[in-house]
Amino acid sequence: MLPVIALVGRPNVGKSTLFNRLTGRRDALVANHAGLTRDRKYGEAEIDGHKLLVVDTGGISGGEAGIDAVMAQQSMQAIEEADIVLFLVDSHAGLTPADAMIADQLRIRSKPTYLVANKVDGVNPDIALAPFYELGIGDVFPTTATQGRGVRTLMRRVLEDLPEPLEIGQAEGATGIKIAIVGRPNVGKSTLVNRLLGEDRVVVYDQPGTTRDSVYINYERNENPYTLIDTAGVRRRKNIKESVEKFSIVKTLQAVEDANVVVLVIDAREGLVDQDMHLMGTVIQAGRALVVALNKWDGLETDHRDYVKTELERRLRFVEFADVHFISALHGTGVGHLYESIEAAYQSATDKLSTNQLTRILRWAVTEHQPPLVNGHRIKLRYAHAGGQNPPVIVVHGNQTEQVPAHYVRYLEKTFRKSLRLQGTPVKVEFRTGD
Ligand code: GDP
Ligand code: GDP
Repeated sequence: MLPVIALVGRPNVGKSTLFNRLTGRRDALVANHAGLTRDRKYGEAEIDGHKLLVVDTGGISGGEAGIDAVMAQQSMQAIEEADIVLFLVDSHAGLTPADAMIADQLRIRSKPTYLVANKVDGVNPDIALAPFYELGIGDVFPTTATQGRGVRTLMRRVLEDLPEPLEIGQAEGATGIKIAIVGRPNVGKSTLVNRLLGEDRVVVYDQPGTTRDSVYINYERNENPYTLIDTAGVRRRKNIKESVEKFSIVKTLQAVEDANVVVLVIDAREGLVDQDMHLMGTVIQAGRALVVALNKWDGLETDHRDYVKTELERRLRFVEFADVHFISALHGTGVGHLYESIEAAYQSATDKLSTNQLTRILRWAVTEHQPPLVNGHRIKLRYAHAGGQNPPVIVVHGNQTEQVPAHYVRYLEKTFRKSLRLQGTPVKVEFRTGD
C-alpha cells in the first residue's frame, strides 16, 4: 500500500515548491473540486526506492470562513486520509497565530506530524527555528524547498518512522487477478460492481477485506478467482441512503497502485472530461493494465454514439493499446465481455519474455529506424532483457543510452508491444549503458 503524505500549512510557506521537489512534477494530478479557489494536487515521490503518494492540500490559515472554510475542510479530508503530515512553517515570517491554530487542529487529529521550517536560506537557523518549538510538535526540520536543502534528511526520517505497510485483510477464498474499478463520481462504478458480482456464475466470498476506504472482494467466476477492489464502497454501505459516497482521489490512486488491471469507467453521456483523462494518465504512469468501459451506452442516439466514438479515437490515441467496451452497467449489456479484456491484459502484463526474443525485436527495431547521432556518434543499442512484470519492463543495453530521445523511447515501446502482441498493458523501456 502506497503511504500517503499530506503537506499542510498556511498559504505561501512553500508547500507547492516542496511538492514539486518531491514529485519531480512528473505526474501531478490536479483535483478540481467545484467552488475551490485552489486545487489539491497529488503526485508520486520516490525516496531511496520507496514510493509515496504526496498530497498538496492547498493551504489553511486557521480561522477560516466562507470559501476558505470549504478549502480548509478539503485539507482536513486530506489529513484524515494521510499516514503522515508534513506541517510547513515559514522561517522568514517566523511563528504566526495561524501556525498555532493549525498545530492545534493537527494535535486533535493525532496524526504523526513533522514540523518543517522552510525558507531557512538567509536566516540564522539558531535564532529563526527556536520559536517553532513552542508549537509542541517536536523536532523542527529546516529546509530550503527551492534548493532542495534538508529535504532528503527529512524524508529519510519520515521513511524510518513509517509504519509497516497495512496488510490487506484477505477474505476467505483464493485470490486471483486484482481488478480495480475506478472513475469519477456518478459514472456507474457501484452499479458495475453490483452487476459484476450479481452474475449467475459468480460466487462471492463474504467478509471482504478493507484497506482505508476501498473494499477488497474475493470471488470466483467460471472457477477463476478474482479480487475486486471496490473504490465506490458498495459493499460497505448499510443502506441505500448512504449511496452518495465521498469520492476520494487518494483512495482511487491507491487502488490503481494495488491492482493488476484497472477498469476505468467513463460516462458515455458526458463524454471524456478532463478528470477522465487525468485518471487515465495516472493508470499509465503507474504502469497498470487498463480496460476502458464506456458506460451508460443504453438509450443513446446513434448520432451521439458516433460522436463519442470519434472523440474517443481522437483523445485516446496515447492509450491505443487499451480495449474499449461500450456497456450498460444498469442493464448488464456488454459487462461479461469485460473479462476477455481483463484476462488478456493480465496475461500480457505478466508474460515471460525471453532475452532472445527481446534482443531480436530490438535489433529489428534499430534496423528499421536507427537511433539518432549524438555528438557525431550513433547511439548503439545492443541487447534487451526482461526487467519486470505488470507493467512489462524491458531493459535495453547499449552506449550513450542516457541520450536516447523521448520519441525514440516511445517508438521502442510501441515496437515491443506490437511485436510481442501485448494487449491492454503499457510497456516500459529502461536503459543501461555498457554491458
Ligand atoms: P504554498 O502557497 O505554501 O504552496 O507556497 P509556494 O510553494 O507557492 O511558495 C510561496 C513562495 O515562497 C514562492 O515564491 C516560492 O518560490 C517561495 N519559496 C518556497 N520555498 C522557499 C525557500 O525554501 N526559500 C525561499 N527563499 N523561498 C521559498
Ligand atoms: P458511482 O458514483 O460511479 O458509483 O455511480 P453509480 O453506480 O452510483 O451510478 C450513478 C447513476 O448512474 C445512478 O443513478 C445509476 O442508476 C446510473 N447508471 C449507472 N449505470 C448506468 C447505465 O449503464 N445506464 C444508465 N442509463 N444509467 C446508469
